[in-house]
Amino acid sequence: MHRFRQAVSNVMANVATIQHSGINREKTTEGDPEKEEKYEYSRAEFLQLSSEEVAIATDIIIRPIMVPRDLSKLPWYSGYAEVVNAGKSKLNEDQAAARHMFINNKHSLEKTLDTSPGNGLLIKDSDQIPLTYFAIFDGHAGSGVSVMASRVLHTRILAKLESVYDLLANSSIEQRQFTRSGDQRPNKWPFTEKEMSVESLVVGALESAFVEMDEQVRKEKLDYHIPGGCTVLVAIFLLGKLYVANAGDSRAIICRENEVLPMSTDFTPLSERQRLQMVASTNPQLLGSEFCCLEFQKRVQRKDLGKKLMYRDQNMTGWAYKEVTEEDIKFPLIYGEGKKARVLATIGVTRGFGDHELKVHGTDVYIKPFLSPVPEVKVYNLFDRDNSEDDVLIMASDGLWDVLSNDRVAEVVSEVLKSFPPNDYKKYASAAQELIMAARGVLRLNGWRTLKENKSGSGDDITVFVIPLNKHTSMDRQSSMTESHDASPMSS
Ligand code: MG
Repeated sequence: MHRFRQAVSNVMANVATIQHSGINREKTTEGDPEKEEKYEYSRAEFLQLSSEEVAIATDIIIRPIMVPRDLSKLPWYSGYAEVVNAGKSKLNEDQAAARHMFINNKHSLEKTLDTSPGNGLLIKDSDQIPLTYFAIFDGHAGSGVSVMASRVLHTRILAKLESVYDLLANSSIEQRQFTRSGDQRPNKWPFTEKEMSVESLVVGALESAFVEMDEQVRKEKLDYHIPGGCTVLVAIFLLGKLYVANAGDSRAIICRENEVLPMSTDFTPLSERQRLQMVASTNPQLLGSEFCCLEFQKRVQRKDLGKKLMYRDQNMTGWAYKEVTEEDIKFPLIYGEGKKARVLATIGVTRGFGDHELKVHGTDVYIKPFLSPVPEVKVYNLFDRDNSEDDVLIMASDGLWDVLSNDRVAEVVSEVLKSFPPNDYKKYASAAQELIMAARGVLRLNGWRTLKENKSGSGDDITVFVIPLNKHTSMDRQSSMTESHDASPMSS
């Protein structure tokens, strides 16, 4: 027992030094707990956990790996697994969502029941366009915003896509793969209409849904207790293409045969330096009197006044000399290396939802103007090749990627998938579970250690999807999109 307690205290000690991408917790303002909670904490719907099981899932000492008990609750029997952090927060601040949805033509009432295995029971309309949605939200400074986003974002994306239903529904396979006119009317000189591809309509739907979701978070924070913020990683399968929209430092990769294709870019204070410096140099008042916008080769001290040091501003990728002035001695806008890097000494992520109330500790300097809800969207054409059943999209929160490289993740997944006979739908769940095991590791006397390398395991919340890439086609064939439709139905 003593040894176990010792191990636990070692874990807790490790946690204090773990470099996670959240927020400096002692510097947060977590909203007003007097306000009513609108989105009660739970785990993803498809896990089907009772409240007792939610408590077990959130046990930060045991850290059980949770997988859905009924694999058919996930689209295409995709793999999902999660584990709570090792003590950095009371709850698992990661959240996930996954579902089949349909983009509706509200003029049609013909409905059928789709009972194919792995699809759940869905009412299907012959004019509906199928869409499959997966999302991971990595919360910080509370789980409020990640919980809210996991319940709401898909409805906003769907509403945006429904507003362009007629343009999507009238597209042929060729048009979906290349470009089409965004408007059926003839061009009117001199105001020529721009050509719009189906792809650009979907990308635009995602971008605008993200921005409007963040605005909804801002408004609801005024009336409800919705603390913190979250990063956002969304994948949708639609009309033969996979769209991955990322705002934050969760990551998606495609693993096919011996190849790894990155499907997202990590947005961090370091990767977003120039954007952040641009915000600061355009609006210097946002820095208060405490911060300096430039990056120097080292932390500038008073004794450096008048000396020449290497620096970079918002226009520069390289370095140049500058004579140090009084202004340059202030604390840098971006400071710290790797996962320790922070914006305004406060936050380690630069895109996502929430954080509207967050200020630099002890000042009136707001963080939000430096954060962006806008995702980068990458597109993968699912018809480019015949994907095998072992070609997968892997999505995970930074808790996984902090410990495992893309190549290592691909290796773990490939080993698991190969070990199953063909068409065994359990392989994806098993791969997701194995990834969490590889990143979390096992609890030893010196804390959580990875199995293979015996190095520090991830102490962060970890969430993983393993999604087969060869299942979308059956859905696409089911959809009928040959007839034309007049109006562009808006969804509320
Ligand atoms: Mg995380």
